[in-house]
Amino acid sequence: MTKVKISPIALIKIIDTASRKLDREIGGFLIGKIEDGHLNIVDVEIPRSRGSKTFVEIDPLDMAIIAEKLDKEGKGESIVGWWHSHPGFGADFMSNLDINTQKVYQSLFNKAVALIIDPKSYVSEKNLRKIDLKIYRVTGEKYKEMDWYIAVDDMWRVVEDGMKLISEIRQEKVKVNDLMERMSGVLEFKEELMRLRKTIEDFLVIKRDFMQFQTSVETFMMYSTLLSLLFFVFVILIFLSLV
Ligand SMILES: [Zn+2]
Repeated sequence: MTKVKISPIALIKIIDTASRKLDREIGGFLIGKIEDGHLNIVDVEIPRSRGSKTFVEIDPLDMAIIAEKLDKEGKGESIVGWWHSHPGFGADFMSNLDINTQKVYQSLFNKAVALIIDPKSYVSEKNLRKIDLKIYRVTGEKYKEMDWYIAVDDMWRVVEDGMKLISEIRQEKVKVNDLMERMSGVLEFKEELMRLRKTIEDFLVIKRDFMQFQTSVETFMMYSTLLSLLFFVFVILIFLSLV
């Protein structure tokens, strides 16, 4: 069976969005593509879903708009499933409605998955290692849980994007016009980055716990990525002290 790989950014968005709405279900689309036989979830979209305490409905119009947008971008990405929250009642099951919804997704894309998250324990304990998050597929009337893991290589993209952003900020600084406005932007960015670093550190621990079979090369990659991120944050702190 196809393995599911989730990018840190997609996971952050899901956990963050679900954690903000504990009074009702919330959900959206999973964006990605099949790569090397793995379903690679690279991002999520959060449309105007009409959630209730136990029911989340996604607007088909939103689905069409997002599908068209992805098509125009031409990166080969499409809607590869959906996600929704079960605030307080666990991610261990799919309701009949969930199963029927998943059947629709699988008919549109035959490798489609359903991701279910219960954010309650994370909100109270802030422990990502214990995140209640499951991924399912449906066969007939039955659902089956799938293995998933967090993509490490995407972290390099985070670092690259960050480095690009820093150089843009630096270039802007040379022009010096509205320093105050830019400063607030940079400070916001720093806070985001600190949060991201913490999240990624936690992710690395999750990965260590679940992927005991990984080779020392992979472990080396993980640590070097983490070191790059720490260096990156360090660079930002130095930059801030210079401004
Ligand atoms: Zn559900």
